[in-house]
Amino acid sequence: MTLDPRHRLTPTTDPEMTIGGDAVRGGGPVIEVFNPATGAPLAEVPSASAEQVDRAVTAAAAAFPAWSSAPREERSRLIHRFCDLVEANADRLISTIIAEVGTPVTLAETLQIRFPVDQMRWYADLILQDDAVDLGETDYGVRRRSVVYKRPVGVVAAISAYNYPLHLGLWKVGAALAAGCTVVLMPSPRTPLSVLAVGRLAREAGLPDGVLNVIVGGPETGQALTEHPRVDKISFTGSDTVGQSIISQSAAGIKRVTLELGGKSPAIILPGADLGVAANQVHRRYTRNAGQGCASPTRLLVHRDAIDEFVAATEQVFADLVVGDPWDRATDVGPVIRPEHRARIEGMVSDAVGRGARIAVGGGRPDFTEGWWVNPHMIAGVDNADPIAQNEIFGPVSVMLPYSDVEEAIAIANDSRFGLNGYLYGDPALAAEVAPRLRVGTVAMNEASGLRPDAPFGGFGYSGIGREGGIWGISAFQEVQHIQYPIAKGE
Ligand code: NAD
Repeated sequence: MTLDPRHRLTPTTDPEMTIGGDAVRGGGPVIEVFNPATGAPLAEVPSASAEQVDRAVTAAAAAFPAWSSAPREERSRLIHRFCDLVEANADRLISTIIAEVGTPVTLAETLQIRFPVDQMRWYADLILQDDAVDLGETDYGVRRRSVVYKRPVGVVAAISAYNYPLHLGLWKVGAALAAGCTVVLMPSPRTPLSVLAVGRLAREAGLPDGVLNVIVGGPETGQALTEHPRVDKISFTGSDTVGQSIISQSAAGIKRVTLELGGKSPAIILPGADLGVAANQVHRRYTRNAGQGCASPTRLLVHRDAIDEFVAATEQVFADLVVGDPWDRATDVGPVIRPEHRARIEGMVSDAVGRGARIAVGGGRPDFTEGWWVNPHMIAGVDNADPIAQNEIFGPVSVMLPYSDVEEAIAIANDSRFGLNGYLYGDPALAAEVAPRLRVGTVAMNEASGLRPDAPFGGFGYSGIGREGGIWGISAFQEVQHIQYPIAKGE
């Protein structure tokens, strides 16, 4: 494969962080960023020193009183202005995301840019509505009236995963800023460039100094940030193991925590489903972004009588899936983030094969001379208790699990410590009966599987705590305040 020449360009992103409205060069260890399609180094980004973490949080705390009490119209206007600049710079940001994540261009345009901008604008409009709740009067001896208000929770530490840097970061930023919070945003050290670039756009948009700070670092920086005494709320997207650390780190300060963690989402191909349609939709869904998606349907529950036909349909879909250059608009599956991540994916597959699993369709790597790629795989021959059916792989790999009747399919679907998404393919009436019985945060039926700004996203169990998106997402950045006053006699 000959890669697009744009892979050889150095992104025009400057490696400066944003602290208190200033462009700041990191004083900590240098992080090397790579292009996963070529394997070549892309940029060197100095991370934040401990002193800079403190400065960022202090700047956010200093900005909080004015930002939280600014008129809602002003906050809304500035968030829209920030969105205007993200849109105006979309081409450059998309290039950066393709370079640092390897996301195919068509997906980068929609999920990495369009959706987060729509989400931020939705929050900027939402806050123009009055959200006070007037509870009216009570009379327990004294007549009183009560009104309930939403108040911003304070300074937010927003930490995100590598796979959708702008989408995950701006999802948090839009809701937090709209709520009146100030933010220190820390992207993954593997993919920090696009988020550093929007830090600069926030400065240009005229967001007051300290309202949005962007710092870079790894686990130690994240720990210092989350344990900082001036941080009130941690909004974290990442793995369940780091999510557990976040809970521990939040304990001493009784910090509010939202966790968006991993998944092992089931897809039930219902009896009688059109297997060609179902196979096409489900395999395309989890292989996108090279399988590096939290809500990927990676446990495929197929009726025993339909196994052969589903395998044949899968062979057809895999033959059509294009593994290739993320700059090519025909590409479905790009590279995975790092060689050690590819080794982990391949190790999970070979361990499963060692326990008796077989690669039913696909497998291996494409024959490319550079970059880190994994072909789509569908594994069979294991039951749901096997580690390959229980643990998140975060690559283009699914496990086919046979079932005998719908009750058994539901039981297998729910037999997971995760509970992010569930997918149902087949008869809409039957799907509607099954949907409420799935222990997951989102159920997608047939081709309906997309984010929307007004909907909640998040999971049950190890998939996290709380939700992003919609009114649920902004509540994560709000405290509730009840104000009560007596009603004078005769009123
Ligand atoms: P990760 O958990 O390894 O890292 C996430 C972030 O946490 C990084 O920025 C990292 O630097 C930081 N970090 C690490 N240790 C920390 C600590 N002790 N304190 C504070 N911060 C710390 O995740 P990843 O490999 O970047 O991303 C993949 C994971 O993210 C998968 O499990 C995936 O399912 C999950 N994810 C979830 C969602 C969702 O919305 N539910 C979305 C995308 C990704």
